[in-house]
Formats: sequence, structure tokens, C-alpha cells
Amino acid sequence: MEVYREYVGNLHSHTVYSDGTVAHRELAQAAGAAGLDFVIATDHNVRPTGAEGYYERVLLLVGEEVHNVRRSPQVSHLLVYGTEQEMAAYSFGSSQTLINMVNKRGGFCYIAHPVEKSSPISRDAQAIPWVDWPVEGITGIELWNYMSEFKGLLWSHLAALGYAFHPDWGIRGPYRATLRLWDELLNKGMRIAILGGADAHGETYQMGPLRRVLFPYEYLFRCVNTHVLTKGALTGDVEHDKSLLYEALRHGRTWVGYDLPRSTRGFRFVARSGAAQATVGEELKRLGATTLEIELPHAAVFYLIRNGKRILRHRGKELRHTTAEPGVYRVEAYRRFRWHKVGWIFSSPIYVV
Ligand SMILES: [Zn+2]
Ligand SMILES: [Zn+2]
Repeated sequence: MEVYREYVGNLHSHTVYSDGTVAHRELAQAAGAAGLDFVIATDHNVRPTGAEGYYERVLLLVGEEVHNVRRSPQVSHLLVYGTEQEMAAYSFGSSQTLINMVNKRGGFCYIAHPVEKSSPISRDAQAIPWVDWPVEGITGIELWNYMSEFKGLLWSHLAALGYAFHPDWGIRGPYRATLRLWDELLNKGMRIAILGGADAHGETYQMGPLRRVLFPYEYLFRCVNTHVLTKGALTGDVEHDKSLLYEALRHGRTWVGYDLPRSTRGFRFVARSGAAQATVGEELKRLGATTLEIELPHAAVFYLIRNGKRILRHRGKELRHTTAEPGVYRVEAYRRFRWHKVGWIFSSPIYVV
């Protein structure tokens, strides 16, 4: 197997080009301060040019979060990467048409916040789920969207006030409904990778005289991130590094890490059979038995999941499991944080065939 390099980035954030509060430079600076290797700006229906590049040691790339603005209420946001042109012009037909155009233009896409809960206390916090099923041609889904989960916590002003000062008291992990949806798609035979996004806007919360920037970008970039495995090291050359990262994201060599409780750098999930090996996002052709190897950077409770069913629970840092069964295998790890069990690592699947 190739020796992959791991890089950590955030793939969902907004700047002043849509409803964010910072320019690209500040976005990159916040990502750098949070220890990320790269950040992708995904403004609503606009793909500004000229911003991509290295800002200190952080690579900033520009994608787009596209939706059909003529639909009301708003639904079906699509995260688009790797096209060299703005895709909003293709949003007025069906979502499938948009997805097809993204692929035709050499890009790839992930469904943003497929499941959302609305907040009863804010008109700005209505749910924007994905409603256009079935679809084909997507690389994956955004399994965990930090701001989307936060929105779902705002069930009263009192709760909002509490969580405004301590968001990490309420953040638990991807919605069960999103995990179920993902497993259903996988069980239909689709190959669906995952990403985790901040959906950073730099939002403020106002109640009476109290006004607070709830989520500085830097804070959000320390929370739910996407870890990718690239076929080589980043060199500092923008075009080279961009294609390395996009190749990894296009093939779904990813896991979602909640890096706030503890960094998820160093997680590995590999399947071996005979001389063949595969890691997250990849297919493994069996030659007899398959050994699944899981390695965590720190001890945690984790599950090995096959075709949507938990087949093993383990507490510790590593596990080897040998099986004769083909299937879609993935890993979920959990930790204690702020007195609760919280989601920590969610891997894209290995497809053992
Ligand atoms: Zn969105
Ligand atoms: Zn967004």
C-alpha cells in the first residue's frame, strides 16, 4: 500500500462573500492558529477567484456551497469542490442536474448537512435538509456539521444563552438520523465518503443587551474537522498541493475528527487480505481472510461497524479483527468530554468485496 500522508482541514466555511464575517486572509489565519493544514471557503452560490494560495503555512482553497435560491423554504445545499468555475448558474434545475454538471466540469461534491433540526426561537435558524433523494454522482455527505448541530440545540432562549457561552456542553456528535441515512445509502451499494465541517460564519447571538460572537472561526476550526490521506506530501506549490488534497477528497480517504477533546491525528484504519491492502475510502478485493486493523491516537471506546451494524465494541487504542465476511466496514470512536459521551472519530468506509 502506498504510504499516505495525513492532513487536517476544514471544508465548510463562509467569508464576507456570502454570510460570513471575515475575508479569505483572516479565514486562513484562523485556520493556521487552530493548527489546520488547509481550509476551504465555501460561500453560498459564489466562487470568488484570486484567493487561493498559501497564507503562512495554511493552504486556502475555494469551493462553493450551491443551492437553488428560487426554492422556498431553502433546501438541499451542495458542497462543491474542484471545479474551476462557479456552479451557481446550474442550480436552477434539479439537484441531480447540478451534480452532473459538477462532475462534468471535473469537480466533485458532498451533500451539506443532509439532516437538520430547526430552532423554534430563531427565524435565521430554520432547518435546511437535503430533500432530493435519490441522487447519484456524489462523493459523500457532510456527516457532522458543527453549526448545524448547534442550531438544533437552540430550543429555548435559556438554552441558547447557556450554549452561547459553553457550546461544547451541548455538542455530542453526528445526528443518529444522519448516521442511519449514511448506512442506508451504503447498504444500497453506494460508495459514500464523509466530511465534517464547521460551517463557520462568525455568528453573533443577541438577546436584549447581550451580544456575543458565539463562534470565532479559530474556535470552530479546533472542533469538527476532516482528516485526509494524500498520496504524497504537500510541497508548498499551490497547484500541486491542491490536486493532492482534491484527489484524496474525491476518493473519500477521510475521517471526521472532533479534535477539541483530543486531536484525532494519527488515527488509522486498514484492511489486509493476502498481499492486498486498503484504507478508508478504498476497496479491498479479498484473497481469503481479511484482517481489519484499527489504531487510535489515544484510548477510547470504539466500534467496528459492518453494513450498518456494530459488530465489535472495544476500549483501548488498537484492535485487530480477522473475518471472512465481505462488507462495508467503518469505525466510530467516542470519548468522555464535558461529562458526556461525545463522538470523536468517524471513518469513511473500507469496501471489502
Ligand atoms: Zn448550508
Ligand atoms: Zn454553509
